[in-house]
Parts: sequence; C-alpha cells; structure tokens
Amino acid sequence: EAKRAGGAGYRLYDPAMRERAKRRGELESELRTALETGQLLTHYQPVITAEGFKSRHLAGVEALVRWRHPIRGMIPPLEFIGVAEDTGLIVPLGHAVLRMACIDFVAWKREHGDAAPRRLAVNVSRAQLTLPSFAGQVKDVLETTGMLASDLQLELTESLAVQDSAVQTCLLELKALGVSLALDDFGTGYSSLSCLHLLPVDTVKIDRSFVDSAGSSLHHRVLIEATIRVAHSLGMTTVAEGVETGEQANILAALHCDKLQGYYFSRPLPAEELVAWMTRSREAEADLA
Ligand code: C2E
Ligand code: MG
Ligand code: MG
Ligand code: MG
Repeated sequence: EAKRAGGAGYRLYDPAMRERAKRRGELESELRTALETGQLLTHYQPVITAEGFKSRHLAGVEALVRWRHPIRGMIPPLEFIGVAEDTGLIVPLGHAVLRMACIDFVAWKREHGDAAPRRLAVNVSRAQLTLPSFAGQVKDVLETTGMLASDLQLELTESLAVQDSAVQTCLLELKALGVSLALDDFGTGYSSLSCLHLLPVDTVKIDRSFVDSAGSSLHHRVLIEATIRVAHSLGMTTVAEGVETGEQANILAALHCDKLQGYYFSRPLPAEELVAWMTRSREAEADLA
C-alpha cells in the first residue's frame, strides 16, 4: 500500500514495472517485424446454425489472428492485441487480417459452393473505427479481393460502440457499404439491453461467461433469454460464444439463439483444416437428412 501510494515517481523505479515496460517495447518491435515478414496468420472458427445444430450446418466463420513467432511459437491474440492497440499497430494488423480472411473466404466460396461458410466475421478495434478512412479501406479490400459486402460482418466490442460520434459515423459508413455489424462479448461491457436499440448492429454475440454458466445459473439463463428476446424484437440475430458442451448447445437452441460458436463444435482452425471440417460437416448433414 505504501508502494501504491508512492505515485508515478516511485513506480519508475519499480523493477517489476520496468521489466514490464521493457517487455512491451520488445513486443512492439517484434510485432512490427511480424507484420513485415508475414508471421501473422488467421485461424477460423466455425459458427453453427442453432436450429438442428446436430447437423453442424456451417453458418459462418470468425477470423481470429494468430502470431507464429519464429522462436516462441504460436502466440495468442490476448498477448499482443493490447500492445497493437496501444501503439497503433492494430491498424496495419487489422488491415492484414481483413485482407487474408477475405481472400480465403472468396476462395472457399468459389471452390466449395454450398459447403462453404455463408458469412465471414472479422474483429475490429476502436483505433480502426476512429480512422476517417476506415470505411474506404474496407471498401478497397472488398473490391480487390472480390468479397461481397453482404458476406462480411465486422465485430466490435460494446464499450466502444456507444457515445463516440467518430465511431458512430464510421459504423454508418460501413452499414452504407452493405457490411453488417456484430456486438461482441455482449454482457461484459458498459452498455445494457436498454441501449441496444441505439447501436446500428445486426448481431449480438452473447459473451462466453454467460454461456459458460447457462447450465448452472438460472440468473444467467434468464439474462440470456432476455438478451435474445430484446435482440429479436429489434430485428437482430444472436450468436452464443464459447459453447463447450452439448447441454449448453441444447439450452441455447431452446432459448431460440440463432447461432452457436465454441469448442463443442470446433476450435479455431487453420484454413486447410477448416476446408476438411467443411467437407466432413457436409457429409454429416447428408447422413442426417
Ligand atoms: P473474441 O472476438 O471474443 O473471439 C472469441 C475468442 O474465444 C477466441 O479467442 C476463441 O478462440 C475463443 N473461444 C471460442 N470458443 C471457445 C470456447 O468454447 N471456450 C473457450 N474457452 N474459448 C473459446 P482468441 O482467438 O484467443 O481471441 C481472443 C480475442 O482477441 C478475441 O475475442 C478478439 O477480441 C481478439 N482478436 C482476435 N483476433 C483479432 C483481430 O484480428 N483483430 C482484433 N482487433 N482483435 C482480435
Ligand atoms: Mg469476436
Ligand atoms: Mg467475443
Ligand atoms: Mg473478446
């Protein structure tokens, strides 16, 4: 407590703090190199239609960035997205992810037709949405990759969507392009069900923490049900994130959640593995039909 009260002057000499600042500096320069040398890639997690989920009908995929570090191996996004956001590197990173994902998606659609995912979801951060040129950049990526705007959904976290006119303008420009928007991690941030109608979003993604306890907590089940009902009454669709068990999938489907995503169906997969998954789930669908 004496330490905490010491203020910034004291903290400069806190070895743990200094070590952390040093690590962040290293991470920043390594991330720059990663961007320049193509160490970043995307994995894809299937999103399943909830109704009749046993057939594993592939409604879409979410692109999730991965960093294949030459020495440290695969680094998960939670270890570098924060640094990327703080340093502005999220802008070129987000652009690279969007481009890679659109290229893959367009190829699947061309090569696998009906078995291909119908929609591609890509995460975006606040720093991207406050760039005046962001909608123009997205338009450019769509044009150069041949991606249909209506096949793309951008995911934003709820805390950034409200009360920021630069962000609001950007969201409306994206909507005008024909891109759809999803509110990610719903239930964890500041906005509430009563604010949902203020946001120009098409989809609400119910956070994993609620899904996790859907089977054990009546309170969370009631919140999930209310979220789904409000979202539907506003014409929005709902996706449950982090579905890990058949029981959770059953509960969510019974509560009329539209789509399900989680380890129960599949972990995020490298592009080649997603293609194999696509083919298998197509066969499973045919078997059940
Ligand atoms: P998110 O957008 O909410 O993505 C879902 C995260 O939950 C992913 O973690 C996914 O692997 C994980 N997940 C999915 N199903 C399950 C499950 O059943 N159980 C558990 N325990 N976890 C599950 P990941 O890939 O580590 O990404 C973490 C976060 O990093 C993402 O959360 C997103 O906020 C951010 N992120 C990832 N890629 C990008 C990107 O390209 N741009 C930006 N701005 N953020 C990204
Ligand atoms: Mg997401
Ligand atoms: Mg999420
Ligand atoms: Mg998240």
